[in-house]
Amino acid sequence: ELLKEPPKIQRLDQSVVNRIAAGEVIQRPVSAVKELVENSLDAQSTSINVVVKDGGLKLIQVSDDGHGIRYEDLPILCERHTTSKLCEFEDLKSIKSMGFRGEALASMTYVGHVTVTTITKGQLHGYRVSYRDGVMEHEPKPCAAVKGTQIMVENLFYNMIARRKTLQNSADDYSKIVDLLSRFAIHHTNVSFSCRKHGAARADVHSVATSSRLDSIRSVYGVSVALNLMKVEASENDPSSAVFEMDGLISDLNYVAKKITMVLFINDRLVDCTALKRAIEIVYAATLPKASKPFIYMSIVLPPEHVDVNVHPTKREVSLLNQEAIIEKIQSTVESKLRNSNDTRTFQEQT
Ligand code: ADP
Ligand code: MG
Repeated sequence: ELLKEPPKIQRLDQSVVNRIAAGEVIQRPVSAVKELVENSLDAQSTSINVVVKDGGLKLIQVSDDGHGIRYEDLPILCERHTTSKLCEFEDLKSIKSMGFRGEALASMTYVGHVTVTTITKGQLHGYRVSYRDGVMEHEPKPCAAVKGTQIMVENLFYNMIARRKTLQNSADDYSKIVDLLSRFAIHHTNVSFSCRKHGAARADVHSVATSSRLDSIRSVYGVSVALNLMKVEASENDPSSAVFEMDGLISDLNYVAKKITMVLFINDRLVDCTALKRAIEIVYAATLPKASKPFIYMSIVLPPEHVDVNVHPTKREVSLLNQEAIIEKIQSTVESKLRNSNDTRTFQEQT
């Protein structure tokens, strides 16, 4: 049989490359919301409000009261790899901001229509400007604005028919967004958050800046959760095994739920750590007779060089240096806390 001619290799058009890359950074509406809220947090906002229409496909709007964006920076704001947060690769070691890739806003302009309204300190008016495929569509227009920045993403995935179709059929993106905002709200207690559907009078997440984490959990997850939590703390300062500090709130024996809720922040980044989650689930199942699934809020602080933040742009799963030692220590802390409270209850029931 005759060999066929090989197909010719061609260089992809830059716009095709960008759209493919963008679809990876922004996988669903909730990924856009996460990037926008993290930008607002990086901009030192104390109030962040989210409005969503049609599960985020029609509209995602994030408004903050942060430091705003300079007029001179607007022309390159949505280009790929433009950022105010990183200069050199070495900076990654000690980076405190959530962002650093300068990819999120650019990505949104390749798969949706982005409009930015922003005002900086001391200015009499703000500017509004729209972007497509990384570039400004027109000169920024002066406009009235309140402190901070508002970013609107409309018609997400308008140019990715298949993605849009699959998302339209799954109605759960709004609940993913509510879940995300709930997590941010109970960690960043000095920031007030809200999240609502477009046109709805009531917000589905509403937190006010407060000094108490328990108060924010009460307003976001409800009284029945907040009533049944215990404080846990653990730390280790042995460079040969692990260095970390953990503090958290975990559910007690009276808490009843079918599903585990695990809200985990490592160095203030919202992450997943399946190994740690499993380890805690096992302790609950073993200690509590009527194995209710726990509610766990945990914040772990590690030396920045012990966590690699430069993983895939959307990857939330992390692995840590000395992970086993850290998990073991946390597991035993949770276990003794649960045991103590269990013993106390048995004791009270007997007397
Ligand atoms: P990154 O966050 O990785 O820097 P982004 O594409 O998310 O990249 O944002 C690009 C830049 O736009 C940021 O570095 C920041 O300077 C600016 N920016 C984005 N959102 C906001 C905001 N809400 N307030 C102030 N500046 C913002
Ligand atoms: Mg960002």
